[in-house]
Amino acid sequence: MTSKERRLLSHELPATPPDAATVAARSGKITISTISLCGCWGCTLSILDCDERIVPLLDKVTIVRSSLTDIKRIPGHCDIGFVEGGVANEENIETLEHFREHCDILISVGACACWGGIPSLRNPIGLAECLATAFTESPTLPKDARKVIPLHPEIPRLTDKVYPCHEVVAMDYFIPGCPPDGDAVFAVLDDAAHGRPLNLPRSVTRFD
Ligand code: SF4
Repeated sequence: MTSKERRLLSHELPATPPDAATVAARSGKITISTISLCGCWGCTLSILDCDERIVPLLDKVTIVRSSLTDIKRIPGHCDIGFVEGGVANEENIETLEHFREHCDILISVGACACWGGIPSLRNPIGLAECLATAFTESPTLPKDARKVIPLHPEIPRLTDKVYPCHEVVAMDYFIPGCPPDGDAVFAVLDDAAHGRPLNLPRSVTRFD
């Protein structure tokens, strides 16, 4: 493969259009999508922590995109986007901007999305020193290893710092926690599904 060629990404593959019965069943429901940027997927597990409570919600909610499939583009439009993780590379920026453009309401889920979280521990050190420590000056580097910092057109370039989502695009709501409590995610989903204003009770966002 030459540097000008690139592989087709999963979100660029042709999608199978849903059949008429599926389209009819989805009408009137709110649509949500979730995506993971620079995080550990722990927040995605919190969404799964809604457990069986999510089943009745599916009468009112259609999940268009899920972090579990990691398809980074939304077809058409979505009512609510849930974003896990901060912004640490150029692909994260593109994905977040796409979600902002295609979601009415965009929600930062978890510490990484809200303020950078664990990945932002690299911010005070500086990108050059981080890369050197990881790839060229690592104490565990074998003596005869080539000292190379990976650079390839298909590897997204890292940003100078890890940014919280709201420093890249406008975010509408924030669910704190590392990870947030499953009850907090459920409270937001339940309000949205029933057309209520989103109202996170303090009882599910306190950690002391
Ligand atoms: Fe993982 Fe915590 Fe970041 Fe969520 S907030 S992605 S659980 S490190």
